[in-house]
Amino acid sequence: MSSANTAYITRDLAHVWHPCTQMKDHEQLPPIPVRRGEGAWLEDYEGKRYLDAISSWWVNLFGHANPRINAAVRAQLEELEQVILAGFTHEPVIALSEELCAIAPAGLTRCFYADNGSSAVEVAVKMSFHFWHNTGRSAKRRFLTLSNSYHGETLGALAVGNVELYKEIYRPLLMDVITVPSPDCFQRERGESPAEYSRRQFAHMEAALGKHAQEACAVIVEPLVQCAGGMRMYDPVYLTLLREACDRHQVHLIADEIAVGFGRTGTMFACEQAGIRPDFMCLSKGLTGGYLPLSAVMTTEAVYAAFYDEYVKLNAFLHSHSFTGNPLGCAAARASLAIFRDDHVLEANRTLAARLGERAGALADHPHVAEVRQRGMILAIELAADKASRAPYPWQERRGLRVYRHALTRGVLLRPIGNVVYFMPPYVITPAEIDLMVEVAREGIESATCD
Ligand code: PMP
Repeated sequence: MSSANTAYITRDLAHVWHPCTQMKDHEQLPPIPVRRGEGAWLEDYEGKRYLDAISSWWVNLFGHANPRINAAVRAQLEELEQVILAGFTHEPVIALSEELCAIAPAGLTRCFYADNGSSAVEVAVKMSFHFWHNTGRSAKRRFLTLSNSYHGETLGALAVGNVELYKEIYRPLLMDVITVPSPDCFQRERGESPAEYSRRQFAHMEAALGKHAQEACAVIVEPLVQCAGGMRMYDPVYLTLLREACDRHQVHLIADEIAVGFGRTGTMFACEQAGIRPDFMCLSKGLTGGYLPLSAVMTTEAVYAAFYDEYVKLNAFLHSHSFTGNPLGCAAARASLAIFRDDHVLEANRTLAARLGERAGALADHPHVAEVRQRGMILAIELAADKASRAPYPWQERRGLRVYRHALTRGVLLRPIGNVVYFMPPYVITPAEIDLMVEVAREGIESATCD
């Protein structure tokens, strides 16, 4: 049967190799060609609409084709599309840096740019190592990371992450890291609070820092939510303890806020909930409102100063990407930050998050739901084969995929991670759309767990 979508699918499958995809799956479930987007909705070539409940891989904040961001990018396009950022500069990157420094945890006063999240992680890792080298501590060359963490797919970022599915095959290529058990509160004992468990799990980190401080550059974490690891959450107290211990052991703290930054957890940055300032804060995804590939690593004067020297000392951070600080991306980012300010977004999101929690909370009673957890605008529903023991469904059964397929038939884009169905919607979602999204997830869970 030929249709408007089919023509694109045929052409796509002839040449496009899709990310994070077993391409053979497309024999059963072809990619959906998207013609346009508006607000929280995507539309294919046959007019079918999909509610984007996952913000197109967690990037979109204020809807597709947002008029204010569109206008800002369009205006910038008429002035300057791209310029080398070495030896040259431009107003969008200057102003964006000022604005980021004004809203970031106090003390993060320097912005280094790249063009995607993984590259930001690479920058933070290299900068931390290089800082210790420049300050005479060249024995420091290892990184501590949490189990179940995710920091991207390039080799350095993959090395400091811990999701086996993505990492295992490449292990021979990766630097050796120190992996510490996660504070993931899904693992807590019955009757134990998330704060108690997070505090208890910190003992592993304290021990690892005690053992490895002399050789450790930094600890890298996803603050509060391990997103790709299945939206596993932990208490802010872990970050407070971690900041104190990193200071005591003279080890940097890298906060990867690529997914959780820009309001996802309820505050502008997740670190704020622990009252801490990391040494490096990685930003991407929502940085541009989800419009364009741009990332930033924010750091302190102390780090900056360790690279500031006579050229001949060869102490500079000689890292670059061609599109570093792209003006269009910076313009989109500034427009996105203006929306945060003008529309009191964090405040408005509290109402949306409450609605989401209220509607999805009812799913906790489902016989195959082990947990419903939420942090701000992120809500996750953990499916289990056995509710009492929390035994997971075997991954080969691909229960989440069944939810995905059901939701597509109902016009909602959900993209479960294994057995975890989650919502991370754009902030322009309406209460009625939240209700729809949750109802469709409920139906999907029902049909995915009925056998
Ligand atoms: N860190 C975290 C916490 C992420 O969630 C992601 C992307 N899912 C990345 C890093 C990598 O970002 P990118 O896909 O832009 O390389």
